[in-house]
Amino acid sequence: MTDIQIAQQAKMQKVIPLAEEKLGIPKDALEPYGHYKAKVDLDYLDSVEGAADGKLILVTAISPTPAGEGKTTTSVGLTDGLNRIGKKAMVCLREPSLGPCFGMKGGAAGGGYAQVVPMEDINLHFTGDFHAIGLAHNLLSAMIDNHIHQGNALGIDVRKVSWGRVVDMNDRALRQVTVGLGGVGNGYPRSDGYDIVVASEVMAIFCLATSLSELKERLGKIVVAHTRDNRTITASDLEAHGAMTVLLKDAFRPNVVQTLEGNIAFIHGGPFANIAHGCNTVVATKAALKLADYVVTEAGFGVDLGAEKFVDIKCRKSGIRPDAAVVVATLKALKFHGGVPVGELENENLEALERGLANLEQHVRNVRECFGISTLVAINAFAFDTEAETALLKRKLAHLDVQVIESSHWADGGAGAEELAKAVVSTVESKPSDMHFCYDDEASLVEKIEAVAFKVYGAEKVTYDTKVGKKIAQLQKEYGHYPICVAKTPYSFSTDPKKLGAPKGHLVKVREVRLAAGAEFIIFVCGDVMTMPGLPKVPAATRIDLDENGKIVGLF
Ligand code: ADP
Ligand code: MG
Repeated sequence: MTDIQIAQQAKMQKVIPLAEEKLGIPKDALEPYGHYKAKVDLDYLDSVEGAADGKLILVTAISPTPAGEGKTTTSVGLTDGLNRIGKKAMVCLREPSLGPCFGMKGGAAGGGYAQVVPMEDINLHFTGDFHAIGLAHNLLSAMIDNHIHQGNALGIDVRKVSWGRVVDMNDRALRQVTVGLGGVGNGYPRSDGYDIVVASEVMAIFCLATSLSELKERLGKIVVAHTRDNRTITASDLEAHGAMTVLLKDAFRPNVVQTLEGNIAFIHGGPFANIAHGCNTVVATKAALKLADYVVTEAGFGVDLGAEKFVDIKCRKSGIRPDAAVVVATLKALKFHGGVPVGELENENLEALERGLANLEQHVRNVRECFGISTLVAINAFAFDTEAETALLKRKLAHLDVQVIESSHWADGGAGAEELAKAVVSTVESKPSDMHFCYDDEASLVEKIEAVAFKVYGAEKVTYDTKVGKKIAQLQKEYGHYPICVAKTPYSFSTDPKKLGAPKGHLVKVREVRLAAGAEFIIFVCGDVMTMPGLPKVPAATRIDLDENGKIVGLF
């Protein structure tokens, strides 16, 4: 059965009584969006702030193949498994973006018998948060062009507008556009461009702000343009941040849904994991920790991108601290790292698996040594995995003294993740984490990128040309205390997607640095980053349809 068929057969419970039963959230604190989605009131979340925190489990992964190795699926399965062994557990996830839904196959609501539902809603418009975020972004864009049109009192240089526009659709034709054509009444023509909504700095800010007032303050700091003499123009100079906050106020409340087994999920916010930090909102994670004894959450891509940013960006300011990390691995991806081509990953290949294990080993070491988090490995079981392969993996990892657990939640739901759940509980109870950052605030921006490149990526050198060096030095003066956010390929520890396994001695070339003043990080672009994806030759949209009974088909 396909993911959507499994999801459509699920007997969902009304989410408001369910959230009351499972987490004790009073029904008055939940606003329904239909029967199966709700938003939780911020005042109620303020009222539980004094409660003790539950344990936080970060689900991360090895360097993935493009299909994804099952972090979301494992997060959901582990949550159901924890509930099955008697723990009060919930999951916090990112909201899926609409663009990829119609592009490549691949949802973001889990898979098999480890999914969150209603999956069609979650994958499509959900509760409208992304529309609100897109609109807040585009309000600022409109106010820039209007300001210029109305006399340009701030003296914005039309060639130095850095704030583009966004839409939640993979549409490569919008990457570069010319706006303001058609005559005097339409403003000043200038070149502009679109990103997908998840790439917006508004999304990153939304996910990092801890309150509506902090949200507004950070929105006000967004740098949108420069003047001829290089003065910085911000959203607050345009007096846009208040209205942007108004557009976001409802979206800012976490969304409540359920897993296939009737456990609670907060799904809230969804920034890119390259030019942004790739985790759900701080608001949702903090709230979940007050409501449940175990909170499972996911960070985008592998440990090198997702877990690093989770720790160095999300945890740094919010005070959130994970108690354990689960590194998800699949035998197929390890064989891929060992040199097996994509079409042959389903065949047993012990030699390739052994070669590919270097990737997993380095990620496990990184979680422990770079971040001080207790670690276990989950093998996300696929139907074609062989016993000999699993046994080899366990034997070869024995020297790392890490628990390695096969988990069949995709096929068996929470029952398949019970062993993983028990191992998580025993790790949390017996090996407390003492999380630390990869670098301190006081380190310079260059020291920060070197710390990440050397310690996490295993690189030997960080390089950049004089122009980039100048920009780094310039940003260092005012923003040197910000953490960095590295945009690079997720498929390799290096910046070259073809260097699989655990490459050593490689160069990290910084192509560009960008300021995200409201998100409070400096983006180091080290490779091609696509902030407006395109559709593939045969888009998934060609298979998505409404059948004669009004049921959605073809959505994965
Ligand atoms: P990630 O969050 O790491 O990107 P997902 O959990 O979204 O990965 O899984 C990626 C895709 O792989 C989904 O379509 C999911 O249904 C599928 N998948 C995950 N685990 C399994 C498995 N054990 N067997 C078969 N398909 C799987
Ligand atoms: Mg995922």
